[in-house]
Amino acid sequence: MLKRLEEILGKENINLEEPMAKHTTFRTGGLAKYFVSPSTIEEVCQVVALCTKEKSPYYVIGNGSNLLVSDKGYEGVIIHLGNRFAGIKLDEENHMATVLAGTSLSFTSKQLSKLGLGNMAFAAGIPGNIGGAVVMNAGAYGGEMVQVIKEVTYLDEDGQVVTKPVSELKLGYRTSIFKQSKRIVLEVKLQLTPMNAGELLNEIEKLNASRREKQPLEYPSAGSTFKRPEGYFAGKLIQDSGLRGYQVGGAMVSEKHCGFVINKNHATSSDIYQLIQDVQRIVYEKFGVHMEPEVQLVGEF
Ligand SMILES: Cc1cc2nc3c(=O)[nH]c(=O)nc-3n(C[C@H](O)[C@H](O)[C@H](O)COP(=O)(O)OP(=O)(O)OC[C@H]3O[C@@H](n4cnc5c(N)ncnc54)[C@H](O)[C@@H]3O)c2cc1C
Repeated sequence: MLKRLEEILGKENINLEEPMAKHTTFRTGGLAKYFVSPSTIEEVCQVVALCTKEKSPYYVIGNGSNLLVSDKGYEGVIIHLGNRFAGIKLDEENHMATVLAGTSLSFTSKQLSKLGLGNMAFAAGIPGNIGGAVVMNAGAYGGEMVQVIKEVTYLDEDGQVVTKPVSELKLGYRTSIFKQSKRIVLEVKLQLTPMNAGELLNEIEKLNASRREKQPLEYPSAGSTFKRPEGYFAGKLIQDSGLRGYQVGGAMVSEKHCGFVINKNHATSSDIYQLIQDVQRIVYEKFGVHMEPEVQLVGEF
């Protein structure tokens, strides 16, 4: 397995027994047996074909900003689509941009805004990569990825590279056909709207200031830990359940924003997982509402 991975990617793009705490914004998680960073679509396809042939589990990550990886780690191949798999191609005439999956969402939003290509300002403070943002249909302040995606090129479950329009991708509230599937987002074409660059950059500054004021950005987290239950706000339910500041080991319900679970002090993934379960149980007992985690679990819990 290692020899073939080296042939496909080169030794320098493979890490063995890699601490996942280095690749998740929670800063927790055990060791990945193989951690690989492809730089081309062809390399992604070859790695997936190899894993399939060798019956090795694999899991794709972007910036790890919505992941809780088990302390026991991952006994397979983590395929990291990050800065080696990044780039933006512009078609200014048609106000479109094609973005590789590993490109930072925040960078993309700022670059396009500077060029007066609008409707991405909402995404400037979301610390994911474009691929992860499509999978999760990331959104904030009234904007959502579904509003700007024209089409997505992905590796489907049969190992074919296909391109589909957004209407076929079932993007909904923090979901899409990519979630919990073996499909891998490779490239995204965005349809933007010409706007005033200065106004877009001001809007980004305003939204980021609002995040700094309301969110516990000074601690590692994965943003909102839970999805918004229909008819409620997750943070308010947690607060009204008396859980502000509730702790399990080093994990804590943020005092600044109860919707965030933070790594307050050397938390493990088990601490965070236990805290999530406690919140679910207590909120359910108080309000009869099921809180579904937004955070994706990787490995054994
Ligand atoms: C401080 C903070 C604030 C946040 N604020 C917001 C917010 O306002 N709105 C919001 O929606 N989210 C927010 N998030 C959550 C997170 O940033 C988003 O969900 C983001 O889109 C995840 O992208 P990622 O690249 O980090 O994905 P990861 O966390 O690496 O992965 C998330 C999921 O996507 C899958 N995935 C990733 N890349 C690919 C790919 N190329 N192909 C197939 N599957 C893939 C993974 O397997 C996993 O299931 C916040 C997080 C933090 C830490």
